[in-house]
Amino acid sequence: MKLNAAYGQLPPAFFFTEIGARVAAYRADHPHEKLLRLGVGDVTGPLSPVVIEALRRAVGEQSRAETFHGYLPETGTDFMKAAVVSYYGRRGVALSPEEIFISSGAADDLGAIGNLFSTDSRVLVAEPAYPAYVDTSRMAGRRVLPLLGTRENGFLPLPGDDLDGDLIYLCSPNNPTGTAYTRLQLQRWVDWANERQAVIVFDAAYEAFVQDGDVPHSIYELPGAETCTVEICSLSKTAGFTGMRLGYTVVPQALTREGCSLHDMWTQDRTTRTNGVSYVIQRAGEAALSPAGLRYNREAIAVYQENGRILADALTKAGLWFTGGRNAPYLWLPCPEGMTGWAFFERLLREAQIVVTPGEGFDAGGAGHVRLSCFGSREDTAEAARRLRTVF
Ligand code: PLP
Repeated sequence: MKLNAAYGQLPPAFFFTEIGARVAAYRADHPHEKLLRLGVGDVTGPLSPVVIEALRRAVGEQSRAETFHGYLPETGTDFMKAAVVSYYGRRGVALSPEEIFISSGAADDLGAIGNLFSTDSRVLVAEPAYPAYVDTSRMAGRRVLPLLGTRENGFLPLPGDDLDGDLIYLCSPNNPTGTAYTRLQLQRWVDWANERQAVIVFDAAYEAFVQDGDVPHSIYELPGAETCTVEICSLSKTAGFTGMRLGYTVVPQALTREGCSLHDMWTQDRTTRTNGVSYVIQRAGEAALSPAGLRYNREAIAVYQENGRILADALTKAGLWFTGGRNAPYLWLPCPEGMTGWAFFERLLREAQIVVTPGEGFDAGGAGHVRLSCFGSREDTAEAARRLRTVF
């Protein structure tokens, strides 16, 4: 027997456990101090009433023989696909239901999409990045070429004439940097991919946070994207579904490489490897994308957006350079001279009782930075902003 040696070369899986352990140790020594958690990458609000009502109704249907649903189409129900088609339609993006694949969330498909590409494909990853792109590529034995975001390029790397690769993961708005590509910038990636016959895997998990008019929510808002891009998204951050598990992947019918339809390949992959998402959850998703659901989502996200504004304001007043806080629920901050992300994490914990995420958890280019999240409560965020001004 021979095991997959790539697993042994991945970073240890205990990054967030380590943060938890350090916070727990500090709390044990300082039981009366109030800790402010700006480390979380998870939503905190409850699901909307329309989603709860849809869940109840769907559970009721499953309790009666005449309305019971067993196996469903592997790639998603007609009603959930129709809800996603109409969600895209609001932004002027016309998709057909067949191009939409309902999933259990973005994380699942970000890894699985690699099944379509040979193991000797060169994978570019705009970094620092959500770790799934790099780790799942390495698990599959693919070579990863980091494309570094830096202060100089505003953490939004762009393609140069000499850039080569087969597959590129782009995430906009970005976790962890909070940056987002404008239409013009993203068009450069689309043109590059079409010229090179490369494929973009576009992670749109935070599209619902976009506020600026020149930042697209979907890459398909740009001409030519349908011939070079797979877009992966979910309701996790859009509708507070992190604990529900529901997402969607778009593989356009116009996306072909080497004479093969990636849409047909992905259909084959999904119908072979999965049996789809539960009926109850898909009904909840349909409700989350209904007009009432969307109204609720907008209000929930507005709370996080205001948190972003409060934190950005505090960092600006402290004279610090940072990215994010506007089109994504994260702010990204270089550490003071020579400090690692972990050292700065400790300093903020001890001096301000603020918990952040060290950039070391986000692979290449993350070291020496920290990520601040906007998912905390308003009170904690406002207090954190006050303490940050004091620390700096
Ligand atoms: N993509 C990015 C950039 C994320 O930050 C996350 C989760 O934090 C995901 C994907 C995973 O999303 P999901 O909950 O849909 O699996």
